[in-house]
Amino acid sequence: MNLLIMGPPGAGKGTQAERLVKELKITHISTGDMFRAAIANGTEMGLKAKEYMDKGELVPDEVVIGMVKDRLQEDDCKNGFLLDGFPRTVEQAKALDELLNELNIKLDGVINIEVPMEKLMERLTGRRVCKECGASYHVVFNPPKVEGKCNACGGELYQRSDDNEESVSTRLKSYMDKTQPLIDYYKEKGILKNINGDQEIDKVLQDILTAVK
Ligand code: AMP
Repeated sequence: MNLLIMGPPGAGKGTQAERLVKELKITHISTGDMFRAAIANGTEMGLKAKEYMDKGELVPDEVVIGMVKDRLQEDDCKNGFLLDGFPRTVEQAKALDELLNELNIKLDGVINIEVPMEKLMERLTGRRVCKECGASYHVVFNPPKVEGKCNACGGELYQRSDDNEESVSTRLKSYMDKTQPLIDYYKEKGILKNINGDQEIDKVLQDILTAVK
């Protein structure tokens, strides 16, 4: 099954994606995670991406599209994938359509997680992420069992450098201007599944599974 997950920053895309790929045994492709790995590895692309990411701005389309193109052709995508954080602009969505056509891949569904805008700032500024496995927590809504440590692997939790109020404001604005139009784009294609993301994490997952199966 080939899926795409979208929603505003802080909607819980990463949290749901992590659980969903385990349930469906498909490959998780998160462009944000790929950029963070490139930054950690000190690659040229990572350095370029960091300038945009820290400010909460989008990395230029040609960089992201090229990266996804290479990733989709890797072997582990053959049994299905979940795209997370891509596409984020109509240009990227059109490029993805072309790419999928070229590779003869069908997109089975687009999961759109909906959360009221006023809740997103609180969700993002309280987010903590595991340095080792990338699992996501929230200091109030989903705290780890031991403060600062990941439940799954014991890794150290950190706050993303773009999870501060200023970057979050820019990211939310960018979502509204550039990414929200994709909802109509996929609705017209008849593959959009709207999911209420303002519920318990497990309930959101169940709703997604029901919608895609
Ligand atoms: P995320 O982890 O999905 O919240 O992404 C973190 C940051 O990475 C974003 O704020 C952007 O700066 C960058 N990024 C991730 N995916 C994309 C994309 N598809 N297009 C442009 N920039 C992206």
